[in-house]
Amino acid sequence: MLHPELEQSFWTRRKKFPAAMEQAFQAEMDRLRDLRVRRTGLVAVVLYAAFAVTDRVMVPDVYQQALAIRFLLVIPLLLLATFGIAHVKKPLLREILLSSVVVITGASLPWIFSLSHHPNAAYYETGITLVILFGNIVLNLRFRDAVVSSVILMGAYAVFLCVQHKLPPEVRLNNGLFSFALVVISLIANFRTDQDQRRAYLARSRERARNAELSHAVELLGKLSSEDALTQVANRREFDRRLDLEWARAKREGQFLALILIDVDCFKAYNDHYGHPAGDACLRGIAGRLASVLKRSSDLVARFGGEEFVALLPATGAGEAAALAERMRLAVRELNLPHAASTAAPIVTASFGVYAVQPVDDEQASTLLDKADAALYRAKQGGRDRVVADMPPEYQAGATQ
Ligand code: GH3
Ligand code: MG
Ligand code: MG
Repeated sequence: MLHPELEQSFWTRRKKFPAAMEQAFQAEMDRLRDLRVRRTGLVAVVLYAAFAVTDRVMVPDVYQQALAIRFLLVIPLLLLATFGIAHVKKPLLREILLSSVVVITGASLPWIFSLSHHPNAAYYETGITLVILFGNIVLNLRFRDAVVSSVILMGAYAVFLCVQHKLPPEVRLNNGLFSFALVVISLIANFRTDQDQRRAYLARSRERARNAELSHAVELLGKLSSEDALTQVANRREFDRRLDLEWARAKREGQFLALILIDVDCFKAYNDHYGHPAGDACLRGIAGRLASVLKRSSDLVARFGGEEFVALLPATGAGEAAALAERMRLAVRELNLPHAASTAAPIVTASFGVYAVQPVDDEQASTLLDKADAALYRAKQGGRDRVVADMPPEYQAGATQ
């Protein structure tokens, strides 16, 4: 979920994320930075190495040391950072590593200058600014790191300007100010990029949160449209849908389709005696017991309406369905809910009507319901708490108490 306060304030005052979001944002930025370091690290190496050509003419007296600094220290460090940064997992360590590489690369230039006594060495100063720009804009260091590395390098540069006496003071002042302005501009650019990235991150997070809400709503809607709110088994709509589906499938595949209609016995009296809320709890308990008997994923228990339930059993013959109905009848009895007002038993019981058929062309799915209902009627007539199956006599599951 998105931070609501942040949503309102980001565009106006507060530019920071809450701690957890900040961490996630920085982790994403680190991944982006990894990619950038890998893509631009070699560019930095080539640019830095190219200046070895000018070492020969700008600091001819120390050019061998300059080459050693460039190729034996700084370039190996740049390569190490380019290919190694992705392997450093600790965020703080990564920050220190990247900023240090920028600082060492920048500081190598006043170092070379300080070794040289050649008048051209005075012009080495510009290199520092280039390195700072690279860190702040191309690598896009975190703003805090960009400030720290810029301050260190500008400090080194200030010392450089003070101790070197090869250029007139007004030229040094002008160069110093020029470099300072460039660094400030690059820091502003760095800060703006950070803010833009935060806005983009916020927009992505908002999008993700909306998508999650939407899929949750879709899931809930699906559930609501197919599930009975009280008993949490399938509802009538879902049963009708599955009956049509399974009827067509049974017809196509020439298989049996069985249906069990279940009606709680003397339930009006139960409500009158124990109250409606107790009646609701009883229906929930019964639904759970009925569902617990069915093991196949294709079987379905649904609330048919009021205190009536229905079980739809694809690829199931009458004998098997009657046996399942009998297990359901016992499962309801096992709830052992007292029912003082029942004419069938001292506990809550239900009656079951079973019918199974191999659908043929002109037959309607409603036949299945009508026949099961007729069987249920006979179960009620026979004294309740029993299973009656509409099928040949050898399959009959008799009343059992
Ligand atoms: P029989 O044994 O013949 O089935 O008698 P019966 O009392 O169970 O049947 P009848 O159809 O007369 O009464 C059904 C009762 O079920 C009436 C109604 O108040 C109750 N009922 C239906 N839906 C709910 C429900 O969602 N919650 C509760 N608590 N009762 C319900
Ligand atoms: Mg009824
Ligand atoms: Mg009833």
